[in-house]
Amino acid sequence: MKITSILKERDKGFSFEFFPPKTDKGRLALETTVNALKKYRPLYVSMTYGAGGTSRERTQDAVSLLLKQNDLEVMPHLTCIGAQESEITSILESYKQQGIDNIMALRGDPPQDSAGFDFSCRDFSCARDLVAQIKEFGHFSVGVAVYPEAHIESESLDADMEFTKLKISAGADFAVTQMFFDNSYFFSFLERLKKQKIEIPVLPGILPLTDVLKVKQFASVCRATIPEYIEEKMEKYRDNPSDMEKAGLDFTIAQCRDLIEKGIKKIHFFTLNKPQVMDKILSAL
Ligand code: FAD
Repeated sequence: MKITSILKERDKGFSFEFFPPKTDKGRLALETTVNALKKYRPLYVSMTYGAGGTSRERTQDAVSLLLKQNDLEVMPHLTCIGAQESEITSILESYKQQGIDNIMALRGDPPQDSAGFDFSCRDFSCARDLVAQIKEFGHFSVGVAVYPEAHIESESLDADMEFTKLKISAGADFAVTQMFFDNSYFFSFLERLKKQKIEIPVLPGILPLTDVLKVKQFASVCRATIPEYIEEKMEKYRDNPSDMEKAGLDFTIAQCRDLIEKGIKKIHFFTLNKPQVMDKILSAL
């Protein structure tokens, strides 16, 4: 079923993002997470794709694993940087045959150690090109990534909005945001979309804040501001991971409650394949 239809039919719910495991232990963690989260009747579940297509087979295997859970709507992520059109077409054909109806279309990032990577001399320069190819292929509903604080490569919020508009006018049906920890960025972003008369559904992407030291590193390369007060509070528990996690999860629960109270009834979670963390948040909500 198309995610756009699910989002229209259900007035509230959560969606869950997983990453493809590398080891048998990781595979077990993924299975455990999916089984633990099924009871929350997700709107859909999605599976990431490694930078530069590095996890192509692992993503496809993990997607097959999710498809075995008959009652889940599964959306694979697909990145286009460094890919060829023919390769993308063959992936789309295989997903269509497997009964998949939705694709998350991303540019992706260049492989590591590739400073000066030239986006223009490949089949795809940005997500818009991939959205256009998927739409031309037909069949799929397409999701894209959006950035409440602007993408790290953008010079300004306005420049970022131009890229957002490009991929939406190429046919994107819905969007999921980059993680953010201050809801005011999300609400200002929604306002800016409204001004541009962009009306596709936008799900806020929430990353559970468990280890502030790790998240801080990641958030800085994604341009996601962690409020100083929570950073300071969590850093005090540097030597006590379980108290740090508790403080972080209390923060995440409060962040989600604030979204819900302000009328945002559908939330996307970057689960990190961690069932206990997700269960704590979801049971509180
Ligand atoms: P685009 O929409 O193409 O561009 C994003 C920004 O890059 C634009 O706003 C613009 O500022 C700049 N830009 C792009 N092209 C140009 C150009 N030609 N000239 C100047 N500026 C340009 N990555 C993965 O590898 N695998 C995943 O599974 C994955 N899942 C994600 C899920 C979500 C919800 C989000 C938010 C991100 C995800 N990413 C994933 C990360 C994403 O691939 C990176 O953020 C990437 O840098 C941009 O991808 P995009 O699709 O947003 O690109």
